[in-house]
Amino acid sequence: MPSTQAAPTPETPVKDMKDIVALCKRRGFVFPASDIYGGINGFWDYGPLGVELKNNLRDLWWKRMVTCPPIGPDGHPVQIVGLDSAIIQNPKVWVASGHVGGFSDPMRKCPKCGHFVRADHLWNILFSESEWVNSLLQVFEPHTGRIDTPAIMNWAKGKGKKLAPNLAVVKDPEVVMSFLATRVNGQPNAPLEIQEIVSHLATAQLNATGLQDPCPRCGGALEGESTFNLLMHTYLGVSATEDDKAYLRGETAQGIFINYKNVMDSSRVKVPFGIAQTGKAFRNEVTPRNFIFRSREFEQMEMEFFCHPSEANMWFDFWVSERKKFWEDLGLKTDNLLMREHEADELVFYSKRTFDIEYHFPFNGFDEKGNKQFGELEGIAYRTDYDLKQHAEHSGQRLDYLDPERDNERYVPHVIEPAAGLTRGVLALLCEAYTIDPSRPSGVYLNFHPKVAPKKAAILPLMAKDGHPEKAEKLYMELREEFAVDLDIKQNIGKRYARQDEIGTPFCFTIDGQTMEDDTVTVRERNTMAQERIAMSKVADYLREKMRA
Ligand code: ATP
Repeated sequence: MPSTQAAPTPETPVKDMKDIVALCKRRGFVFPASDIYGGINGFWDYGPLGVELKNNLRDLWWKRMVTCPPIGPDGHPVQIVGLDSAIIQNPKVWVASGHVGGFSDPMRKCPKCGHFVRADHLWNILFSESEWVNSLLQVFEPHTGRIDTPAIMNWAKGKGKKLAPNLAVVKDPEVVMSFLATRVNGQPNAPLEIQEIVSHLATAQLNATGLQDPCPRCGGALEGESTFNLLMHTYLGVSATEDDKAYLRGETAQGIFINYKNVMDSSRVKVPFGIAQTGKAFRNEVTPRNFIFRSREFEQMEMEFFCHPSEANMWFDFWVSERKKFWEDLGLKTDNLLMREHEADELVFYSKRTFDIEYHFPFNGFDEKGNKQFGELEGIAYRTDYDLKQHAEHSGQRLDYLDPERDNERYVPHVIEPAAGLTRGVLALLCEAYTIDPSRPSGVYLNFHPKVAPKKAAILPLMAKDGHPEKAEKLYMELREEFAVDLDIKQNIGKRYARQDEIGTPFCFTIDGQTMEDDTVTVRERNTMAQERIAMSKVADYLREKMRA
């Protein structure tokens, strides 16, 4: 049963995705791609602040993986090196990895309007995004199963006609409603689930054919399931024949596996070690949705950690707790995170264990009991030796390891893969930071940790005269060498504070009359709005300390 959004309480107003998306556009975090041409489904552009936020997250991940990796169980930093492989590789890579044969999602088509929908997300999409279901839900009490026949009939003859012309209850309201009434009256003690009611309203052939799954767009009956390969392709060179077909990478991970030998041969790493990479990935998602959560072009941060098979479980546990800590350190609240281990029947065949780090995005909502629902942010998979063995077999190259620490034992290393979405991470940071506060002029502020905030501070001369702008520019020129700072001279101070609140700038330094006398500035702290005075010469130290906290 899909989740429905719980009622807001005065203490914790519910964050609405529509408001977050609107702020992202208004303030320059994320724009729909090709906006002036009406957009393109599944693609997004990152604006002036979005690109800073994304770069910050990527740089913090890189630091935590490559330049300052965590301390391993032996008390020494683990070894991880970086890589930046091409987006397009020899197509054989994707045959060996299994993506050409099996990287597919189940899909269903609506023969009436031609809409495609991902089969395993159908009911979620119906309840969160379908216009006609949302409109229909307003005419009956979803949780009691009570059917208000006249209200639904009215809906079918009015709004329903416009929103879901192919729905059975719209085409034939009397017949469908009288059948539904017999079904409800026959079982007075067993109220129907909303899902069942919606299916009933879509059922054209009534009990002759049973229930049918309706199209989220037009209400028509969906066809059965088929599979759809997610790899995007292009043609290289001028002739554009099938032989010239190449794939845009569906994940950054395979670029790492195919460079395992090059890295081993060219650097001094020894098992256990990792190779990390960030970058674009492309998937022809059947139903891109939920803003930048599921798009067709996105970015990943993946690391493949190669280890001896006997130590793989130990490293798996190590990376699961490390990765959770990473997200918490960036400000994601522990109670918005869920560590979910895959059940045996959910594991892909080559994985022995997988943990998903899930985040409570606003569109995940709550279940009927008010429990938070979650969506995947990162997967940590114990992939055994599957990928290296596949590439060894398909390329004809030896990808095993001669271990000098283990009496020259020869083996194919096992792999632990923490695979995170960079753009999905940006969304989690935005959603977590979004804080509703009716007491301030902006009504909302972004509570970013100073480490991730796109702008670390704003320098605001109180007046656009009396030497204030010159003094402000001097401070700005000093700070910008080390920090992303904003110099904002125009408008009244309240409006400038409001803008900085909305873009999540943690500190505002204001230059005023007193600054001209004693070289002190006021610091306004974003979350508390408290102000204190500090010496201008101490501003850089102040910021440095806050960034470390
Ligand atoms: P999902 O089940 O959500 O489709 P997945 O299990 O296929 O994701 P992986 O292949 O493990 O995802 O990719 C690693 C990470 O890449 C995911 O945890 C997610 O953060 C990100 N990711 C995957 N697909 C998309 C997408 N279409 N848009 C944005 N991020 C994505």
